[in-house]
Amino acid sequence: MATPLQSSNTIDFNSARISLGRPHITPEERPQENYSERRYKMASSLQTTLDIEKLLHLFHHELPESVELDGLQYVNEHQQLQILAGRKASHSCGYRLITAQDHLGEIVFYRSTRFSDQNMEAIEIMLSALICPLRNALLYRDALMASLTDPLTGAGNRIALSNALQREISLSRRHHHSLSLLVLDIDKFKSINDRLGHSAGDKVLKELVVTLSQVNRNTDLSFRYGGEEFVVLLNQTNAEGALVIAERMRIAVENMEIMVGEHPVRISVSIGVTTFCETDTPESLFNRADKALYLIKSAGGNKVIGL
Ligand code: GH3
Ligand code: MG
Ligand code: MG
Repeated sequence: MATPLQSSNTIDFNSARISLGRPHITPEERPQENYSERRYKMASSLQTTLDIEKLLHLFHHELPESVELDGLQYVNEHQQLQILAGRKASHSCGYRLITAQDHLGEIVFYRSTRFSDQNMEAIEIMLSALICPLRNALLYRDALMASLTDPLTGAGNRIALSNALQREISLSRRHHHSLSLLVLDIDKFKSINDRLGHSAGDKVLKELVVTLSQVNRNTDLSFRYGGEEFVVLLNQTNAEGALVIAERMRIAVENMEIMVGEHPVRISVSIGVTTFCETDTPESLFNRADKALYLIKSAGGNKVIGL
């Protein structure tokens, strides 16, 4: 088996914009083809989307006009992104995408034969067409994420919950998977604010979300409904499984010790649990869990009830 050729390159696209191509290639060595038209075509194509996944697939789709490739992989650790277009092969050549303002991640190109200097020059020219659309797509993704995230706790917000509920319900209907919903409310939370101050209350909310995510690893499906109320969606989980997870969450929260200055603060939560049935709408599903929550509160809190 061929050993992968792993070359790693860094392009500063500010200078690249002024001098495209690698300086050690003399004009004589340059390919005869004129890349400017292809670069223009690539740039026009990439301008058609702000979706980062689509953008990289488009880039991969257009590249063979300039250089034969099997695939490419884009990685942005900061944004927890890893996108593969096409497939990996034995030879690779990688670029770190940097500009004066930002670090846009890394991209690795794959093919089954070695990359020549000419191939790499073509790639670098095409990469220069990717930079602006890539930055825009990353900014768009940031804005989209922010619009769906509760800034205090990092959990999904009400809009994200509404989107996820619609999506999970239709997936459950289509694939006949069970879907359960938990509504969780901190008991006597107001007294924490009253006794220890609002910032102590904020700390409790943040640490609660961390604890919940340790119990339920599917953090994409945890939401802050408002105030000290949270919703957790458990896909592919039936009523019995949901009660087990809810009880695990209740106990994990009961065991939390939240330090406010020198003082450990303890809290408890009440969790209403329900499971999707065919006739449910998002509202009816939520309302049933909320009703279970109401029953717990009337009985003094710190409990799990399924309805
Ligand atoms: P119960 O046991 O019946 O649930 O009572 P509770 O005190 O938990 O609930 P209540 O609805 O009476 O009070 C909720 C409190 O949550 C009141 C509000 O000031 C506080 N709150 C809402 N959002 C935030 C927030 O972002 N940070 C902080 N620190 N407090 C918040
Ligand atoms: Mg409460
Ligand atoms: Mg409440």
